[in-house]
Parts: sequence; C-alpha cells; structure tokens
Amino acid sequence: VFGSSIAFYNESLRERLLFEQRILNTMEDSLKRGDFQIYLQPKVEIATGKLIGAEVLVRWIHPEFGLISPGDFIPIFENNGFIYSMDLLVWEKACALLRKWKDEKRECIPLSVNVSRRDIYHEDMIQNLSDMIQKYRIQPEELHLEITESAYVKNSQQMREVIMRLRKLGFIIEMDDFGKGYSSLNTLSELPVDVLKMDLEFLRQGENTKQREQIMQFVINLANEFKVLVIAEGVERADQADLLKTMGCRYAQGYLFGRPVPSEEF
Ligand code: C2E
Ligand code: MG
Ligand code: MG
Ligand code: MG
Repeated sequence: VFGSSIAFYNESLRERLLFEQRILNTMEDSLKRGDFQIYLQPKVEIATGKLIGAEVLVRWIHPEFGLISPGDFIPIFENNGFIYSMDLLVWEKACALLRKWKDEKRECIPLSVNVSRRDIYHEDMIQNLSDMIQKYRIQPEELHLEITESAYVKNSQQMREVIMRLRKLGFIIEMDDFGKGYSSLNTLSELPVDVLKMDLEFLRQGENTKQREQIMQFVINLANEFKVLVIAEGVERADQADLLKTMGCRYAQGYLFGRPVPSEEF
C-alpha cells in the first residue's frame, strides 16, 4: 500500500508539472488567439430579484484541455506575472461590452472585474484603466473593481494608496472574499471601499453554523453602519437568501440567481 501510494503521488505531481508546463507554453498564443473569454454572473437585490450588476469571470477555452476554470491558471499567472496581460484583456472586454450595450441602447448595469493583488503593484494599472474607459467612452462608476481582502491585508499601505487614487478617479471598489481566512475586522474600520463581498464560506453548512451566522450578522451591521454595501457570495438556496434578508443584507450573488454564462448568453 505504501509503495503504490508513493507511485500515485509521483504520478499526480508529474501530471501537475506537465499541466503547468503546457499552461506556460500556450498562454501567449492563447491570449493572441482570443481563447480567454468572459462569463457574466448576475448580482441582484434579494427582496426584488432586481439585477444590480454582474461580475465578469474569465474562462480559458484551451485548445488541448477545453474549458479551464480560473482556479487552475490564475495562481500560475500570478506567479509568473502574466496575470496583468490577461486581466488587461478581461477589463477591456468588459469595457467593450458596456460600449456595445450603450450603442444598442440597452439598459446598462455596472460590470465588476477582478483585480489580482499583483495588478495593484503594476505601475501602469491606473493609467491603463483610465485610458480604457476613455477609449470606450464609459463612466468609471460603471466599472467596479473587485480586490480580494487577503490582498488588501498584506502590504496595506501601498494598497490603500492605489485604492484611494482609483476611488478619486471614480471607480467603485469592491472588497472580494471578505472573511475568507483573514477576516481582519480592522480593515473594515479603515475601509476605502464601497462594497463588501462576503465570502461564500459564511453560507457553507457544517459545524459552527450558529457562530458563523453571528459573525455574518456582525459584519452586516458594521457595513451598514459604515454605509458600505454588502453583497453575499455563493447563495445557492432560497433559505439562505431569506436568512440574509432578515439579517439586513440586501444584495446577493450565487447559483440561486444565476450561474456565470458567456457574455452573449447573458
Ligand atoms: P471570486 O472573484 O470570488 O468569484 C466568485 C467565484 O464563485 C466564481 O468562481 C463563481 O463562479 C463562483 N460562484 C458564484 N456563485 C456561486 C455559488 O452559488 N456557489 C459556489 N460554490 N460558487 C459560486 P470562478 O469563476 O471559478 O472564479 C474563481 C476565482 O478566480 C474568482 O473568485 C477570482 O478570484 C478569480 N478570477 C476569476 N476571473 C478572474 C479574472 O478575470 N481576473 C483575476 N485576476 N481573477 C479572476
Ligand atoms: Mg470576484
Ligand atoms: Mg469573491
Ligand atoms: Mg471567492
């Protein structure tokens, strides 16, 4: 048993390394060829079901592997620095979509794009974003920037400065995955953010349900007091939506309201 489990471990590690190698070898071509696509997932007001916005989530339609989820390649891109090129493309696609909706005289909703911790430290980010909204003639408040809380906690000084400058330009900042692992409530008190996205871990079933609900209630109250909008992530069932509503959380995102779908389908 011992022997075979070692063999199995080696095999999967080998596969993992091969996969990563293929990712690294194909990313540039894929970027040029347009293999990175955007999916959209609705954000809604719980009480009415009204659409208030959408999150833009990248998907890689890989020539060999088919559709790959961001969890499988974002960490690799964050390591080698490719993330910025890919995110730029995603942001541009979001801006182009907003422009298209405007040209077609459709009702526009804000689009939220994800911003990697690494992007924040890229010296051109603010300029690139400003140029982009100018090029597509959209308002900064139509493009929301989701930044994960863990990114915010580390190196908070520089992070705060960049966020402050972005907000001054009119971009809306959403703190993503709030409460996941770090859950430092003191970031809340110095919060240069407009929206707080409560991590889906809070709604997971399992042990300490009561305790998690209490923390959730605390976070919602605090956010309401600070006039920061709260969006609950990962709402899959109606009872979760009801609970959130009674807790004073007005907005949500999750499979209950809609899965991420290709932008044309959205
Ligand atoms: P995130 O920003 O927290 O995005 C929410 C994730 O939760 C998405 O996974 C979404 O599909 C998933 N989700 C939504 N509703 C539900 C639900 O009801 N239940 C469950 N179990 N999951 C739900 P996805 O698309 O696989 O993305 C994973 C992460 O990858 C994102 O987490 C984000 O951190 C990152 N990511 C995605 N797109 C981009 C991008 O364009 N740029 C960067 N830098 N990161 C991205
Ligand atoms: Mg996000
Ligand atoms: Mg999130
Ligand atoms: Mg998340």
